[in-house]
Amino acid sequence: MPEALIPANEQQRLNALNELGIIYTPLEERLDRITRTLCRVFNVPFAHISLIDSDTQWFKSTQGFELINSERSTSFCSHTLLMDEYLVCEDLSQDERFKDLISVTQTPKFRFYVGFLLKSRGKNIGTLCIEDIKTRSFSQEDVSSMRDIAHWAQTELHLTQLSEVQVQLITELDQAQKEAKIDGLTELWNQVTIKDILRRAHHRHLLQQMPYSIMMVDIDNFKSINDTHGHPFGDQIIRAIADDLRTTLRPTDAVGRYGGDEFLIILENCPHHRAEELSQRILAHNNGLTFISKGEKVNCTISIGLASTDNIEIDGPDKLLEYADQHLYQAKESGRNCAKD
Ligand code: GH3
Ligand code: MG
Repeated sequence: MPEALIPANEQQRLNALNELGIIYTPLEERLDRITRTLCRVFNVPFAHISLIDSDTQWFKSTQGFELINSERSTSFCSHTLLMDEYLVCEDLSQDERFKDLISVTQTPKFRFYVGFLLKSRGKNIGTLCIEDIKTRSFSQEDVSSMRDIAHWAQTELHLTQLSEVQVQLITELDQAQKEAKIDGLTELWNQVTIKDILRRAHHRHLLQQMPYSIMMVDIDNFKSINDTHGHPFGDQIIRAIADDLRTTLRPTDAVGRYGGDEFLIILENCPHHRAEELSQRILAHNNGLTFISKGEKVNCTISIGLASTDNIEIDGPDKLLEYADQHLYQAKESGRNCAKD
């Protein structure tokens, strides 16, 4: 299979991508909204947003498959990078560039691909794509619809909606350091990083006198779910709950994996009464999550411990953590599947 040529402006392209500083950031619900829309509008099973680094294609949002990254050299998108605006391939099995690729010859046996370029400072940094396992046609009207969605994606990539402390943290780090801050299973911030974000949020709270809240979220009876259904199934639940938290929270809220089955959420500019409402929303949302293991329905609930700076006296962020932890314990004692503050 002929590999795609490297674009003539490769270095400028990589500079533009690095300046955007978003490769090693956690996945965000706002990008998932775009890929979900693509699947609905074009009635396709697969969609993704990717950023293309020197050797790697990084998936920022995917529908229909779960990959964090893949090799650039064997990607459809490396060919899209060479286009002016987009690449449509209605039958991949008939295209010299793609017909021998593993994803075309073996599962999922892609047949159809459309990729639109995403740009930053006029340089091609990534792609917005749909795929199908059936051959399809793609009309001029479809091109116009996908163009609009590509503009939306491009705007979102530039409009970082992470809170200022998260942005500050990201811009201070080089790429290897950024990679080390993300939890491998959930792609949320890891424990060290979420604690760092907490310290920074507290500092801002002292400067700006705005209340903030935190939530400790812990999965109920998770040991027995692991014991009954196996560790890989448990992993699937941890990931689904992480996705669910991401969906329910505001883009400016920070969420991290704090322990095995425990998450820490930091809600800046959020007084106690709003955090309390939010905890109820999270519980209601989570209650609708059921998982299937070997044909059997498994319900999995969570408990939440809440602490806010406007309803308790604290002398530092560790004290707030201590309160949230105590409240989580009370939620567990009260029968689980509830929030305590
Ligand atoms: P409680 O309702 O009181 O929280 O009960 P629990 O059974 O959930 O107890 P606890 O929170 O102490 O247990 C956490 C369990 O999570 C223990 C450990 O085996 C499991 N665990 C920790 N990390 C992982 C992981 O990465 N994957 C899976 N599948 N399980 C994990
Ligand atoms: Mg637990």
